[in-house]
Amino acid sequence: MIDRTCNDIVIDDTTLRDGEQTAGVVFSKKEKIAIARMLDAIGVRELECGIPAMGEEERDSIRALVGLGLSARLITWNRAVIADISASMECGISAVDISLSVSDLMIEKKLGKSREWVKEQLKTALGFAKEHGLYVSVGGEDSSRADIYFLIELMEIARDMGGDRFRFCDTLGIMDPFAMYDKVRGLRRAVPELDIEVHTHNDLGMATANAIAGVRAGARFVNAALEEVVMGLRHACGVDTGVETHRFVEISRFVAKASRRPVPHWKPVVGEKIFSTESGLHADGVLKDPKNYEGFDPAEVGLDRKLVVGKHSGTSGLVERYREMGISLSRGEALSMLDKVRMIAQRTKGPLKDADLLQLYRSGRFQNAA
Ligand SMILES: [Zn+2]
Repeated sequence: MIDRTCNDIVIDDTTLRDGEQTAGVVFSKKEKIAIARMLDAIGVRELECGIPAMGEEERDSIRALVGLGLSARLITWNRAVIADISASMECGISAVDISLSVSDLMIEKKLGKSREWVKEQLKTALGFAKEHGLYVSVGGEDSSRADIYFLIELMEIARDMGGDRFRFCDTLGIMDPFAMYDKVRGLRRAVPELDIEVHTHNDLGMATANAIAGVRAGARFVNAALEEVVMGLRHACGVDTGVETHRFVEISRFVAKASRRPVPHWKPVVGEKIFSTESGLHADGVLKDPKNYEGFDPAEVGLDRKLVVGKHSGTSGLVERYREMGISLSRGEALSMLDKVRMIAQRTKGPLKDADLLQLYRSGRFQNAA
């Protein structure tokens, strides 16, 4: 177990930068303001809010976010060049992420440069940012494929020049949690004075696992899916981030609408159907005590528990589902209905709707049951 309190772990939400960088996603200024306000209200302590170098429209949104006077720190994404950092400062921003490609592959094949060149870029950009009193996260793009000794060298430069943290980016989402743990632990040990942030991607479905592995290895800043990281830290690791979780469903639906990417019904933590129970054994267990089959209370994130009648239902679930509809059924009656329930579920390839249940109930045999 890790021993950390909410003062230790900082969630840096990057919906407004990396989220919007997703192909085809665009937020309006109004939407950005609403998202930032909601995240701030629930206690997210840092918001990565855009890329000022992208142009006037982006800068206009960032200025508007700065103007909100939120408690959360606003941080922008910048290439390690002075023009980008200046553009951030023009927006009234006081914290910057300065990004450098750090794997030999990207340094050579993308930039056509050398490690020495990257170090010089860092020194110039970081020197400029610190001269202007900015809070600086030094971002290592493609850290996962970089030589760890080169990362240590960059972290030492960052530390010596007053940088505030190093962002370890699994840009391609190709790491596993064990490798993440080992690497972050190694970097922590080598440069203990510099905070580490883990920036993970979900290409192999391991973003949250990698983020949590990074935290367990000593990273203090984290930015994978907010709801998964916060709930994962709380329920799998016993760590409270101080983020208020009851509005997670509301916020994720707002972001889904703004990005035109509906939240899948089975999305961990906030999916509408993750607390739907159908299986007879599970429904019976949940009805006796929800803790039997629920790792956390759905109300914690703003969801409802739902009992679904379908192919795998048993008598307890059926009795309860009818009770919710105002019809009382004996267990014997429920038992005698199960075959029909299964037939309907099989035919419709889904759960039974209220109308199906009513029709079944009225179909004659159960007319006098209530
Ligand atoms: Zn990213």
